[in-house]
Amino acid sequence: MTKKNYPQCARCVTKVCENRGKTADAEPESLEKAPAFCPMKLMPEVLSRAITEYDSPDLKKFARLASVQEGQCYERLPDGLRTRLSRIEELIQFSRKCGYKRLGVAHCGGLANEARMLTEILENNGFEVVSVQCKTGAIPKERIGILPEEKIAEPGEWETMCNPVAQAMIINESGVELAIMLGLCIGHDTIFIKYCNVPLTVLAVKDRVLGHNPLGALYTSGSYYHRLMNGID
Ligand code: SF4
Repeated sequence: MTKKNYPQCARCVTKVCENRGKTADAEPESLEKAPAFCPMKLMPEVLSRAITEYDSPDLKKFARLASVQEGQCYERLPDGLRTRLSRIEELIQFSRKCGYKRLGVAHCGGLANEARMLTEILENNGFEVVSVQCKTGAIPKERIGILPEEKIAEPGEWETMCNPVAQAMIINESGVELAIMLGLCIGHDTIFIKYCNVPLTVLAVKDRVLGHNPLGALYTSGSYYHRLMNGID
């Protein structure tokens, strides 16, 4: 694959994939209008392989429930479609659909209040909630080679390392049916995802500046956050 010849859906203006037929039972229209970088043109064999995965009964059922949930996030009113569910409501409804009884919250120590509120909400909605904070294990950052000047705390002070491997292993061994990530740092979340062996979803990612709403920077990149467009240090 040459440098320019890789999938770039983010640049596509046709979005042919979203509506290839005029009706649900129509034959899909040709891909002629799709751009050259469309994965449907570049990688048809991968797409053929992918769709057969849904023939697995478990995945088919899970994917179906996810799409049913997606549909229930909208309501059709006389003046058109309207959204109706927040992510937490979606999480509760989807977990019920899947028959989950025990959920696991992997959270950042900086979001301890949010973890407590989330736990209360989930418990009030009938779930058991296992929760594990990132600092579990109480191991100092020196264990992974952090230097005094690389700490958040003063150089001589104790600072516990984030321990996403332990968070994942504890979730894995606690009978959790769905893990929920809440505000883990970049990189720590990557490790958690690598080690978590149960189905996993994300309620929130950490953004220390934007109230855990990283998209705020995108929405203001044409104005207050324009410096992002120029490249940052
Ligand atoms: S799959 Fe093809 S048509 Fe769909 S957004 Fe990507 S490039 Fe565009």
